[in-house]
Order: sequence, then C-alpha cells, then structure tokens
Amino acid sequence: MDKKNVETVWNNCLSIIKDNIAEENFKTWFAPIKPIKLQEKVLTIQVPSQFFCDWLEEYYLKLIKKVIRKELGEEGRIEYNVILENPHRGERPLTIKIPSQRTESPRNFPVSMPLDIGNNPIKNPFIIPGLKKVVVESQLNPKYSFDNFIEGDCNRLARSAAFAVAQKPGGTAFNPLLIYGASGTGKSHLAQAVGIECKNNFPGKTVLYIQSEIFSRQYVDAVKNNAINDFVNFYQMIDTLIIDDIQFLANKEKTQDVFFHVFNHLHQNGKQVILTSDRPPVDLQGIEQRLLSRFKWGLSADLQPPALETRIAILERKVYTEGIDLPKEVIEYLAYSITSNVRELEGALTSLLAQSTLNKKLITIDLAKQMVDKFVKTTAREVSIDYIQKVVCDYFDLPIDTMKSKTRKREVVQARQIAMYFSKSMTKSSLATIGMHCGGKDHATVLHACRTVNNLMDTDKRFRLYIDELEKKISLP
Ligand code: ADP
Ligand code: MG
Repeated sequence: MDKKNVETVWNNCLSIIKDNIAEENFKTWFAPIKPIKLQEKVLTIQVPSQFFCDWLEEYYLKLIKKVIRKELGEEGRIEYNVILENPHRGERPLTIKIPSQRTESPRNFPVSMPLDIGNNPIKNPFIIPGLKKVVVESQLNPKYSFDNFIEGDCNRLARSAAFAVAQKPGGTAFNPLLIYGASGTGKSHLAQAVGIECKNNFPGKTVLYIQSEIFSRQYVDAVKNNAINDFVNFYQMIDTLIIDDIQFLANKEKTQDVFFHVFNHLHQNGKQVILTSDRPPVDLQGIEQRLLSRFKWGLSADLQPPALETRIAILERKVYTEGIDLPKEVIEYLAYSITSNVRELEGALTSLLAQSTLNKKLITIDLAKQMVDKFVKTTAREVSIDYIQKVVCDYFDLPIDTMKSKTRKREVVQARQIAMYFSKSMTKSSLATIGMHCGGKDHATVLHACRTVNNLMDTDKRFRLYIDELEKKISLP
C-alpha cells in the first residue's frame, strides 16, 4: 500500500486516541510516533526508544489495539520499530510485534525485556587500523548495579571487596578479584556492578564484560582469520576486564594460554581483572596451574545462597522497581519456598506477574503456590520447617520470634509442638534439626511434641480441627 494510505490510517487512529486520553499524554506518547508502512494489515510505527515502546505496551496497548482493529479489521496488527538508543548494539532496528490474539501482552513478556547483552557477542572486537581511540562497548547490563544488589550475610565480603575494587580499579590488593558461588547466587550481577561503578567513577576508562565462552570463541575466530595479534592487542588495552564463568575455560589450553598473556599484561600495567567461577579455585579442574596461581595473587570471595531475610529483601526490591503492588504474604511465600537460587526466585515472581496479567487473575497465595509448583518441580521440593512455622504462627496469630523463643506459655508451647509435629511428618528433617529450628530444643523434646500432638488429636475434637485445617494450609497443591 502506498505512503498516503499509511498516513491516513495512522491519522485516523490518532484522532480516536486523542479523544480518549489526556492531551499531555497524547503529546508525550503519540505525537512523536511516525507511521512507517502498512503491509498485509500490519501497520509499522516508529518509536524513539525501547522505553517508549514499553510504556506504550504498558499503558496504551488496549487502546492501540482497539483503534487498529477499527481501522484495519480483526486481523489488524501493529509493529514497533524502535530506534536503538545505543547504535553499537546492532545495525538492525529492533522490531517488536504485538500478537493479534485477544490476550493482552503480559507486562514481562520478553518483547519488553532489555536486550540480553550478556549473550550478545561483540561484533568486531578488534582495533580498526588507523583508529587511535577505540570505543569499546562495555556489554554491561545497567540493571546489574550495586544499587540493585541486596546485601546480606551471604555476600557481604564479596560485595565490599567488589565495591572497593570499583573505587580504585587496579589499585587494591584485590587483583584479580575472583567471585565464586553456585548458580543464581549473584556472581554475574556483582561482577557487572563493579564494571558499572567503574564506568561511573572513571568515565574515561575502558571496561569490558565478557562471558568466557565468547572470549574463547573470539579467540578461535582470531586464529582462523590470522588475527591473533589484533585479538591480544584489543584485550590488552582494556582497563577493567571482567570475565564471567571462567570454569568454561577448562581444558581449552590455547585459550588459557592467550588469557595468561592478557592477564599478565593487564596486571603488570595496573589494570583490573575480575573473574567469576561456579566453584572455588581449588576445584577448577582443567585450568592450568600457572593461571590458578595467578588467581591467588588477588582475592577469592564466595557468594552463598541468600538467607530468608535476604531473599525477601531481593523480592521486595524487585517488586518495588517494577512498581507493582504484591501482597506481603505472597512475597514471603515465594521467599520461603525457593531457597537456593535467586534466578529461580525472580523467575517465579516474573511468571506470577505474567500469569496474573494474562489471565486477569489477582495475585493470591494460591496462584503463587501453583507458580512455585511449576517452577520448582524439577528439584523435588519439600515444605520447609521455616514455612511450617510461618503458617502455624499466622494461624494462631503469634509472632514467629515468640515461637522460636524459650517461653513456656501454654499457647506458645502448643503452637511450637504443632510446628514440630508437622516438621516431622512433612519434611525429611531429623528430630535434632527440627528442635534446633524451634527454639533450640533437643530431639527428645521434638519426639515428645509429636506424641503429644498425636494424643490430643485422638482425644480433642477441636484440636483435631486445628490440625486438619493447618495441614491443608501447609500442604502445597
Ligand atoms: P549467577 O551469575 O551467580 O548465576 P546472577 O548474577 O545471574 O547469578 O543472578 C541471578 C539473578 O538473581 C539476577 O537477576 C540477579 O540480579 C539476581 N540476584 C542475585 N543476587 C542478588 C542480590 N544479592 N540482590 C539482588 N538481586 C540478586
Ligand atoms: Mg552468571
């Protein structure tokens, strides 16, 4: 269809939109849009940024769909053409489609996610001959900042070392800084936070974040193209080099060789190196001894899985930055249920939000349970003692601290015994562990509690009712 037609269609759309939203909003969000083309009932519009596109999706999707359908019929669709804010990231404009189905696009639908620059290989990392100053795209994801990194006992040392490095890259004893920990404990986040902070503090310095696998792929390409010198030169001019997941360099001797040279050069010249690994250096099999011994020059700091309070804080932070209102009990439920991996924790939250938006369901604890179930089913989940205590305390309206204290008040004692009973019947924990969690009691006390609860269930109807109700609350669907 011709150009005129595109504009007519878009102008018709605009006139309806104008009537339906405040003038200010119209000016801000619709005036800057340019209609580009109309093809097969798909109208392509150009928007100034990804953020713009997200905003339209979030607040005006329904309206846009309505007017498009009115103008182009049921098959009518719209596509965004985003002008990339950062031209280094790729040549193509990003095209985003709104599905034509009647379902709403969920707010965390991948289309509105920032580009995963971690997986976006650098196009051409080599110095272009004749160019003196090379602009290096840092490949950092701005959301992985220190501000967004929640501090807890699990990460305090690593976080403060990382922060110190970012204030004085290359100028502390922590060089290299090696951050290690299990999957989803925040290694990549923390490593990138150093990069982001370095760039803020020293805008003139070159920072580069790279996955070790990409590093190694680039090296292989360089060998193929006879460009090893360019490759080495490129890496030797970085001021702060962050290599993520170095365990993947295992057994790649040639890549390790070249990394050894790069490392030495950077280190000698007071440049900072930051590495992450999913295991401590001693367990890094397949990595050359001379590299391992270099790692010892700096600091190895570990990240542990976050404790409950930290998990809650991480979720609260995320909920806050997303600007959503989520019942506290749902946050707590998620934090109680997903214990070791922050990525899974965030994933469950994201799916929960998507689910609720898609199906227009309220986010309730039941929906959360279903979500968690889907999410954690691979890792044979069991109810945790923490969770049981929480449900029991909520039920009897007791503060959890009171249950864990030594108090011998009758109603507290009973609630504590009930929590012990469920912990015994619904988890695989030993009597000793259960006792420890319930106010530092020994295994005999737990055994006694289980017997008492069993006896009371046989003799006291009302008590039995409590137990049945609680059991329903605790068991997961
Ligand atoms: P790893 O590299 O150790 O596998 P990531 O750094 O990719 O883990 O973290 C997984 C997810 O969890 C990321 O979205 C990250 O932002 C989040 N995350 C991990 N630890 C924290 C923390 N302490 N505070 C806030 N977010 C965290
Ligand atoms: Mg990682």
